[in-house]
Amino acid sequence: MAEQQPIPYGRQHITEADIAAVVETLRSDFLTQGPKVAAFEEAFASYVGARYAVAVANGTAALHLCALALEVNEHSRVITTPITFVASANCIRYCGGTVEFADVDPATILLDINHVRRLVESKPKGYYSGIIPVDFGGNPVNLQELRELADAHNLWIIEDACHAPGGYFYDSHGEKQLCGNGNYADLAIFSFHPVKHIATGEGGMITTNNEALYQKLLRYRTHGITKDPAHLHENHGGWYMEMQDLGYNYRISDILCALGLSQLQRADAGLARRRGIAKVYEQAFKEVPGIQEVATAPAAIGASGDTGHAYHLFIIRVQDRKGLYDFLRQHHIFAQVHYIPAHTMPYYRNLGYQKGDFPVAEHFYSECLSLPMYPSLTAEEQQYVIEKVKEFVAHV
Ligand SMILES: *Cc1c(COP(=O)(O)O)cnc(C)c1O
Repeated sequence: MAEQQPIPYGRQHITEADIAAVVETLRSDFLTQGPKVAAFEEAFASYVGARYAVAVANGTAALHLCALALEVNEHSRVITTPITFVASANCIRYCGGTVEFADVDPATILLDINHVRRLVESKPKGYYSGIIPVDFGGNPVNLQELRELADAHNLWIIEDACHAPGGYFYDSHGEKQLCGNGNYADLAIFSFHPVKHIATGEGGMITTNNEALYQKLLRYRTHGITKDPAHLHENHGGWYMEMQDLGYNYRISDILCALGLSQLQRADAGLARRRGIAKVYEQAFKEVPGIQEVATAPAAIGASGDTGHAYHLFIIRVQDRKGLYDFLRQHHIFAQVHYIPAHTMPYYRNLGYQKGDFPVAEHFYSECLSLPMYPSLTAEEQQYVIEKVKEFVAHV
């Protein structure tokens, strides 16, 4: 193969059908607030098995709307993981609340439920308001376990499922629970940034089974305004609407939803391809000294050997991570690091966090590298990546 072709860690996959869908919307009567938004919401809700879905401008707007709907304010304390994109924590700060990080599990790198339990049990009920677990890398959080803990302490849950559309874990009855299906989390959010599973450029989605939260999200998405006669205080005629809360313009356009709908039709195929790529990496690195992998959450592994891991990322852990990163770049392989722990960012340090606060997360950060993982990665390109990784670790 041409070794000069750059191989990124993730990229979108756009087909002629996607392009045709966007063009059709450009020729239609609605560029925004038309039929494609509702159609995308309905199809996405059904894809993840949730009752309601609200499409929004991006994943960060989705998180902000969730925090608003759950009435996060300056008295709220919310627990989340430091190994995530900073937006998972920032949504609490947008509403004036306090972010309380907890460390991650050393094997799965998901929020450590034992650490969360220690936190909530050390304080009176009501001290914490909620938890934002993240299906990091596509590895699904066991939300059944987390829900039990949340219920015992009166906490809400926002599942940040940006990495895991189509991911699942098995509950204690052996039932498959899709990420974002709303059975355990109050709200779940997704992003359609080009590196995520489904791309609209910018875009996001909130899913829930809670009708009251759903109604709030619809209002908050569009300035806090409602026109629904059933929810008005007065009614002056056909034009009448009320701004009932301070909302935002976090809407997404019909153009983007047309793309999302088209992409969603290939979501299962893309996910199957990601799982296939992961299997090849796992086989290749299994016996290689110096390369460690991140464990799949135990509840995500089915009795028949199926995996609920959604593989947004394929992460390896190596001692000389910087060396490997630089070596791969020299060979046009653009691996990436997910994530610099959020609590070590200057902004969060200014709020009182320090290096050393979450040693498991920080140790993981020192070793992790996300290898190319996207449906259009060819078998040839993947073999080249594997060869270069092995070449590097064999020489250190
Ligand atoms: C991408 C991402 C977000 C934010 O989504 P945007 O659409 O980029 O705003 C939030 N959380 C996680 C874990 C993400 O990966």
